[in-house]
Amino acid sequence: VVMIGDIISIVIAIVAGWFLARRALIPIQVSWEKQQQFIADASHELRTPLTAIMVNLERLFKHPDHTIEQESEKIMIGMQEAKRLSRLVSDLLTLARSDSNELQIMNQTLRLDEVAIKCTQVFAQLAIAREIRLETDIQQPIEMVGDQERLHQLMVILLDNALKYTNEDGRIYVSCKKEGGRVSILVKDSGIGISKEDIPYLFDRFFRVDKMRSRATEGTGLGLSIAKWIVDAHHGKIQVSSEVGIGTSFLVTLPIKP
Ligand code: ADP
Repeated sequence: VVMIGDIISIVIAIVAGWFLARRALIPIQVSWEKQQQFIADASHELRTPLTAIMVNLERLFKHPDHTIEQESEKIMIGMQEAKRLSRLVSDLLTLARSDSNELQIMNQTLRLDEVAIKCTQVFAQLAIAREIRLETDIQQPIEMVGDQERLHQLMVILLDNALKYTNEDGRIYVSCKKEGGRVSILVKDSGIGISKEDIPYLFDRFFRVDKMRSRATEGTGLGLSIAKWIVDAHHGKIQVSSEVGIGTSFLVTLPIKP
């Protein structure tokens, strides 16, 4: 019989999702139109996983005599969508808090090379699993002032995208260097690339190239908006160059001291 615990955890995810989403959408100090658009897009994006969870839950209740094995597909979909919902809500919270200046960037002395190594080690394992070659060129030491946790998040977003949008047998190259008073982080992949028309919208909230195809890969369309916020908060720059079918490079440059 389908485990009641699974159903309860999905229901808790829905309730928590809505609660946090409401919290995420509390007043933001941006223009009224932008705020309205953000709320409309967020509601739309939140509704998709919620609908999937609800549909699968309803289908589960139709066969209360079925075993968990018989219903494993529906439970799996429910859990995956609950995870997606939770990721969406946490990304929305980050952006809403950054809009209302609730999120402060820490000014810590940190070793960017150590942040980069820690991050690439995790992705190296994921790359092996996908038969993608991950090469790194990380200068040591790179001392700078910034927010360690946010810089880690920035690298995770760029590496996660590089991995998501690169097919098997591809390559990803990560470099981290200090040049004069600035540091540079380069994440380059040999993936599917992005067309020239799409590049201007990459950092827009919820923008995903080819929504239908993107739905197959995990993501919220909020990663690069968060990356841009982190870079701006460090008074840095983020540049993209890409060619369809050849690959994409994201180059971040940051001052060593803000
Ligand atoms: P997502 O969660 O969809 O990855 P992002 O904001 O991180 O959202 O990225 C927005 C869109 O930009 C992605 O959906 C994808 O279409 C495109 N994109 C980002 N990084 C890459 C990349 N390295 N290669 C190809 N396309 C990319």
